[in-house]
Amino acid sequence: MSSTLSLTKEIPLLREACLIGGKWVSGYESNSISVNNPATGEIIGRVPRFGRPETADAIDAAQAAFAVWSKMTAVERCNLMLRWADVITENQKELAELLTIEMGKPLAEATGEVAITANYIRFFAEEGKRVYGDVIPSPWKDRRIMVTKEPVGVVGAITPWNFPSSMLGRKLAAALGSGCTVVAKPASQTPYSALILGELAEKAGIPAGVINIITGSAAQIADELCENEKIRKITFTGSTPVGKQLASKALANMKKVSMELGGNAPFIVFDSADLDKAVEGAIASKFRNSGQTCVCANRIYAQAGIYEEFSAKLKAAIEDQLRVGDGLKPGVNQGPLIDGGAVAKVEELIADAVEKGGTVVTGGKLDAQGGTFFEPTLLLNATPDMKVAKEETFGPFAPVFKFESEEDVIAMANDTEYGLACYFYTQDLGQTFRVMEALEYGLVGVNEGVITTEYAPFGGYKDSGMGNEGSKYGIDDYINIKYSCIGGLGL
Ligand code: NAP
Repeated sequence: MSSTLSLTKEIPLLREACLIGGKWVSGYESNSISVNNPATGEIIGRVPRFGRPETADAIDAAQAAFAVWSKMTAVERCNLMLRWADVITENQKELAELLTIEMGKPLAEATGEVAITANYIRFFAEEGKRVYGDVIPSPWKDRRIMVTKEPVGVVGAITPWNFPSSMLGRKLAAALGSGCTVVAKPASQTPYSALILGELAEKAGIPAGVINIITGSAAQIADELCENEKIRKITFTGSTPVGKQLASKALANMKKVSMELGGNAPFIVFDSADLDKAVEGAIASKFRNSGQTCVCANRIYAQAGIYEEFSAKLKAAIEDQLRVGDGLKPGVNQGPLIDGGAVAKVEELIADAVEKGGTVVTGGKLDAQGGTFFEPTLLLNATPDMKVAKEETFGPFAPVFKFESEEDVIAMANDTEYGLACYFYTQDLGQTFRVMEALEYGLVGVNEGVITTEYAPFGGYKDSGMGNEGSKYGIDDYINIKYSCIGGLGL
């Protein structure tokens, strides 16, 4: 593999070029994207601003590699992928630091994210060996019906900035495990955790061209991915408006589509809940990644009987446990928000809620450290007419709504176009099943605030997307089903 990169001494895994067919391609001298550290505002590096021609090159490379990768046995692919996961684990510390520097999340969370990336790869390496076919009882005496499964082909993958490693990792894992090859476009704000995954894959022996990673103009790259006939599937994680646009372009060219989109998660605490556990879950669910995850609690509903006590405990936990600062510093568990736009969004939602009668009881403004550091915020007396009831916050702002009955809270929880994650706390078994079945969401946490694992499916209802990632279901979207009718048997 030839390299034309300028390596930055302080960040050993930084790669300022795109990976196409096993070669690092730069070209950033003429046109580049600057990447900054959201904790300090410093530019940490640049990546190329590529468009359609370079994307077409990457697709050609992936197509050539598909001929090799798809013909390997699942066992051969598995062994290479397991080695890749091991190489990631061997570099976990440096990968986590890189992730924190480009994205801002605290080092402990970044370390966990890198571990999850490796776990997705291990899971789908093994799952690739279980892509079983079928023999269906034939209605004809002289013919047999055989069903086999084949990889769809070259996959176009587009990912967001909030999990720069694991969002791409779980797409690559399922794609490679099933025998597909990939052209990936990471978010422009966090390209480095993605770029290095490609290099580590090749270091582990995965053939050049199986993974191609390209940075640049989202619209141009997406247009090429959606219109190029060699691409057979588009997988996207990001916001709902972009996902809808992309899905319609991809479907116009009859490509398979998987969409992991936005959320507006309700977090419900019933009178019977264990309040300490509910507070622990609310802190984890609301404030992980400073509130910047698609499964973060967006609206907290507390039943009237425990509203005061739960709110007081949540306020104490926020004030005692959450420490804002540079994610590289020990003890920090609330990093900066990704950019000024994210800060403006949180400020807008808080101002709207206050204007409509909400009371900020802790936080509420930019942190004294400035930049994009924001105080973890708790607002009481939230009401359904507030913007935060409808919109994804993506920041450390927890509004608490009061409700009276199970029926009311289910209606409020489902009153959204989103349907990704939801959570509720109760110790009433009947209520557990009633509420679990009534909530229109793809992921349900019952007495748990963090539920993602490679072993379970991850996918949204309604405007939160289509398809699933993770688990045995995650490989289905990368597979074509082939029916062969075998006749002429002389039976
Ligand atoms: P975004 O603006 O939709 O961007 C996501 C990706 O799409 C980036 O790579 C971006 O590229 C690219 N993109 C932007 N405009 C595009 C276009 N017109 N055509 C094709 N691609 C385009 O979302 P984000 O702000 O990065 O991420 C936050 C959103 O992702 C939230 O809504 C969150 O809920 C969602 N999310 C969902 C999941 C899930 O699994 N359901 C997981 C994580 C996040 P550039 O960076 O170059 O603009």
